[in-house]
Amino acid sequence: MDVYGLIGYPVKHSLSPSMHEAVYEELGMEAKFCLFPVEKGRVEEAIEGAQALGIDGLNVTIPHKKTVANLDIVTLQGIAEKIGAVNVLDFTENGIEGYNTDALGALKALKSRDVEVKGKEVLLIGAGGASTAISFQLASEGGRIKIANRTEEKAYKLAEKVSNVGKAEGYPLENLEELIDKSDILINATSVGMEEDRSLVPKEFLRSDLMVFDVVYTPLETRLLKDARSVGAKTVDGAWMLVYQGAEAFEIWTGEEAPVNRMNKALREKLR
Ligand code: NAP
Repeated sequence: MDVYGLIGYPVKHSLSPSMHEAVYEELGMEAKFCLFPVEKGRVEEAIEGAQALGIDGLNVTIPHKKTVANLDIVTLQGIAEKIGAVNVLDFTENGIEGYNTDALGALKALKSRDVEVKGKEVLLIGAGGASTAISFQLASEGGRIKIANRTEEKAYKLAEKVSNVGKAEGYPLENLEELIDKSDILINATSVGMEEDRSLVPKEFLRSDLMVFDVVYTPLETRLLKDARSVGAKTVDGAWMLVYQGAEAFEIWTGEEAPVNRMNKALREKLR
């Protein structure tokens, strides 16, 4: 039996077991996806324990993503090093490898809607964990990134870091109308809209030729996405990012292609 899991705190509401176990069933794998609540200060011990137990792969979630990226026992792969956060650990013959598939998940979510990022003006609202992963990934794809955040210093700081891989500028949240006017893609990477009927973007700022992506997935159709759809804009919901980050993780762990549609179906059933 293969064993995969998630470390974080808390983890009990995670949707990952439903999504991954649907894949195991679809592919006829004998495998289980377990939730491991791990308190701050015990993360390194937990990872070494998982390795010793022969666990096949781990997801990492809040509040441990940055901590894991700074552990000497983890070798960072790809864009995880630039982002400074890890959400996937793979136990290999060469040691423990750390990846950031949140970043790739967001890019693939956009690509699944035929959205090309290269050369596009991308406005991200928020400068926390989700925005950091997405802005690095989209900047390295050739997107021209603008980051607007309530705490504006955080937007400037993140934009400065992202400038090492591509084009990025930071802004205060007050300039939204003007920033959206000049954007092709708008991404809400804040928690605003989660379990509430609220958006940081007034509907009148939206237009039909805008691509609108919300990282929030509870509810599946946030106020921002409702407003965007009502003006005829293309939309991508946060569940797609979650599905693609999970699919990437599965592929890292097994070397097999993940049945994305099955994962998506399982996740949406659970969310509804
Ligand atoms: P985080 O690191 O805590 O960052 C939160 C961000 O939201 C900050 O930029 C914060 O601004 C902003 N914010 C919060 N409340 C606000 C308000 N009332 N007005 C304006 N800005 C506000 O959180 P995170 O990890 O980036 O997560 C953000 C959201 O993304 C969460 O809903 C999470 O569930 C979702 N997420 C989704 C996926 C996915 O796969 N779909 C993956 C990761 C995260 P300040 O800096 O000013 O505080």
